[in-house]
Amino acid sequence: MEKKQFKTESKRILDMMVNSIYTHRDIFLRELVSNASDAIDKIYYKTLADDTLTFEKDKYYITIASEKENRIVKISDTGIGMTEKELTDNLGVIAKSGSLAFKKENEIKDGYDIIGQFGVGFYSAFMVADNITVISKSFGSDKAYKWESTGADGYTIEPCNKDCVGTEITLKIKENTEDDNFDEFLDENGLKSIIKKYSDFIRYPIKMNISNSKLKEGSETEYEDFVEEKTVNSMVPLWRKNKSELTDEDYNNFYAEKHYGFDKPLKHIHISVDGVISYNSILYIPEKTPYDFYTKEYEKGLELYSNGVLIMNKCADLLPDYFSFVKGIVDSEDLSLNISREVLQHDRQLQLIAKNIKSKIKSELDTLLKNERDKYEIFYKSFGRQLKYGIYSDYGSNKDTLQDLLLFYSSTEKKNVTLDEYVSRMPEDQKYIYYASGETNDRIEKLPQIEMVSDKGFEILYFTDEVDEFAVKMISKYKEKEFKSVSSGDLGIDVEEKENPSIADDKENKELFEYMKTTLSGKVKDVRASKRLKNYPVCLSNDGELTIEMEKTLNSMPNNENVKADKVLEININNDMFKVLKGCFDTDKDKLDLYTNILYNQALLIEGLPISDPVEFTNNICKVML
Ligand code: ADP
Ligand code: MG
Repeated sequence: MEKKQFKTESKRILDMMVNSIYTHRDIFLRELVSNASDAIDKIYYKTLADDTLTFEKDKYYITIASEKENRIVKISDTGIGMTEKELTDNLGVIAKSGSLAFKKENEIKDGYDIIGQFGVGFYSAFMVADNITVISKSFGSDKAYKWESTGADGYTIEPCNKDCVGTEITLKIKENTEDDNFDEFLDENGLKSIIKKYSDFIRYPIKMNISNSKLKEGSETEYEDFVEEKTVNSMVPLWRKNKSELTDEDYNNFYAEKHYGFDKPLKHIHISVDGVISYNSILYIPEKTPYDFYTKEYEKGLELYSNGVLIMNKCADLLPDYFSFVKGIVDSEDLSLNISREVLQHDRQLQLIAKNIKSKIKSELDTLLKNERDKYEIFYKSFGRQLKYGIYSDYGSNKDTLQDLLLFYSSTEKKNVTLDEYVSRMPEDQKYIYYASGETNDRIEKLPQIEMVSDKGFEILYFTDEVDEFAVKMISKYKEKEFKSVSSGDLGIDVEEKENPSIADDKENKELFEYMKTTLSGKVKDVRASKRLKNYPVCLSNDGELTIEMEKTLNSMPNNENVKADKVLEININNDMFKVLKGCFDTDKDKLDLYTNILYNQALLIEGLPISDPVEFTNNICKVML
């Protein structure tokens, strides 16, 4: 028979899976059981949509059986089954495109991280089995097919016989080696405890033959062994269980079972609401940013169940964009089952649930920030940017919800602080909330523009995300205080003239500055004596609303309209360099032109802006050396 090859990407992962040193190999059973449960869900859903069909509850279950001597474990379900094509399509390709992209970015060394990171489902069975056979008969078909594979060298498919619709997976469990013992996966108790651990809440019965013993009939002392079929899971979904019965591990296992993320969740929120609207929900705040989180590919949403039946995988309407990182499920009795997606969007019940969920998440984050700052910092590192986008979008309508969740690095505290903490520390003579923008904290620390504000003893917030300035522009005022960039024209700091003679000198030097401005032919709006520089010779500042950082961001976007901030070249007239300029103004205009150009380009460099003609700039420097 012709052997079909796995898609190439699949091959590598499969290879790693087979040779996996993964310590939680027992999750293979969780994966196969969850697939079986999905398959029954699908048939259930079909019967709901079709009046001629009825869902006979007793007919839907999962069985797990083992034959110790033959090293065989069988997992069967009476779910929807697979056609020949589905067997090829579903079991012939491993990771979905998204996870493949992730794999490329984060070269995976061995099998260890694979399960957690991809949730490669079905293939995890190759960690414990060296041969897998899948016999399946699809709903509505009278033909059955057998898929068989021993791992990376490919698989075969051929027709076969099977009585009822559903799928039967046979695993040939690996032989024990010096380092590995696989017997646990053949043992009745071993299998039972794995099911209890990961799959207890699966809604369909998971049946196993359990050995037992009883008194022999007619005897009072003699026992005989017998085997009886038992349902080993409790079948109560986790979200319907009592919070007090559940441990962190239960919640973490559920998170992994659902493939919500490859991390451990930072926090879970279990909600049971009974009132105008009734629903149960388990929500998670992940710890790490999903690889595609800040891309267009990322889809937000919660799993939506109506009375225990899955009606939507990712219901986007349940989450505002700024909380799009939240994962989890919602189950409500108040939702109609046959509701279409379009109608669902406008469903009043759903909107009420969404509102309720939003405020629960918000208050959970508030509490985290207040009581577990370390954990909050981890959260913020992963998803803080999303909160800032949330403030900026929708015309700032969510700023009241979100502004107290923001953190920025503080120049004086040397750590992240909230706006509230900042404002509560402000001395009386400080009018504004000061911030400085740049690529990294280190670079901002060295910006000439921060000197004046720092010397005054005022705290400065460091903005390193592109969205930062846009977000605070949207907030506009926090507790009556306006935000002010340290590069803005007017810093709102009164400088007395004797302290800083630059102001007096301003008028005297007017002619010189006017000349320099003309030399720079339109590149700057003005040349001025600086009120903010102490040691550095020059810097750029801006007049008006648009800052230089914002200019950079806006111009890096597609379809940019090439906006320009009103730049001002500020000269430190207390710096010796200024005397040189003055001298040149009186005696050597060519030299003054040269110096003006160099100083302007230096200011650009400090600001992280591109120099329009680097060759000319370096030539100019050489000229000075001669
Ligand atoms: P996932 O469950 O995340 O889609 P898996 O690797 O676990 O990924 O399974 C791949 C696909 O194979 C499933 O999406 C499903 O279409 C199909 N499949 C697996 N097991 C079964 C089963 N027992 N019954 C029907 N289809 C199945
Ligand atoms: Mg699966």
